[in-house]
Amino acid sequence: MQSWMIGNTRVTRIEEQVGPNDVPAATFLPDLVRERFDRHLPWLVPVHYDPANDKLITSNHSWLIRTDRHTILLDSCAGNHKNRPWLPRFHQLNVPFLERLRAAGVAPEDIDIVLCTHLHADHVGWNTRLENGRWVPTFPKARYLFSRTEKEHFDPAIGDRRAKNPGRAEMYDDSVLPVIQSGQSVLLDGEHAIDDRLLVKPAPGHTPGHVVLHLSDRGDKALFCGDVCHHPIQVHEPDWNTRFCEVPDMARATRRRALEHCAEQGALLFPTHFASPHVARITSAQGGFGVEFVPEK
Ligand SMILES: [Zn+2]
Repeated sequence: MQSWMIGNTRVTRIEEQVGPNDVPAATFLPDLVRERFDRHLPWLVPVHYDPANDKLITSNHSWLIRTDRHTILLDSCAGNHKNRPWLPRFHQLNVPFLERLRAAGVAPEDIDIVLCTHLHADHVGWNTRLENGRWVPTFPKARYLFSRTEKEHFDPAIGDRRAKNPGRAEMYDDSVLPVIQSGQSVLLDGEHAIDDRLLVKPAPGHTPGHVVLHLSDRGDKALFCGDVCHHPIQVHEPDWNTRFCEVPDMARATRRRALEHCAEQGALLFPTHFASPHVARITSAQGGFGVEFVPEK
């Protein structure tokens, strides 16, 4: 189990899967300029890019954040048994994710906060699990935090969304609606302090209601950025969006702001999808940014 210490706060990576994306690199990153991408091949291959198949390699993991007050799961991956035929990598998974959480010393009932940076399918899956044919909250004692803007952006009951995008509606119904119906959801407006170390802030662009989590503990800092930065090539090329960035110009501006924050404040970047070693220090380099990976300690 890989862990990092930020002050006295232990951050542990709970893996769901690591592997190649479903589509070629330039499909996943439509802004990709091949010649600029190729300059980075020496460090991208083989961990972050598979040149034989032209696929970016990404991880899907949750961050388990343990303070003396809270046990937080940040983003909840794609989940088991979810019907996602439009996302082959996340379709009908059967992964020992909860076993890995237990191996880190945490049972589902120990989680007191689940924070979803946004409501895409690979960030809400373990919100629920299948029990006797019904989707029930996986974490019975948790409050589930996500932004009100995000909920309103995804709610399929609004207008003709259900007919227009049935896949997205199904995702909402199986992974978001059950935690609302159980009374466990907390909709965030603007900034939200979880305690004196943890601050949720809006970071719109990838989705309209995307949020990030700032951690500051005894002078050490971390930024849990969700999909503001999806793949480490975007540290060098912050204007390259993924095909899943829903508000493109805002996504670029938010990415730059997050990287500037990390470079200026010395905050470690904890994205949801970087392959090993998953965590990065951001440096300022020639008018842009550089990335130094930070192994577990
Ligand atoms: Zn994602």
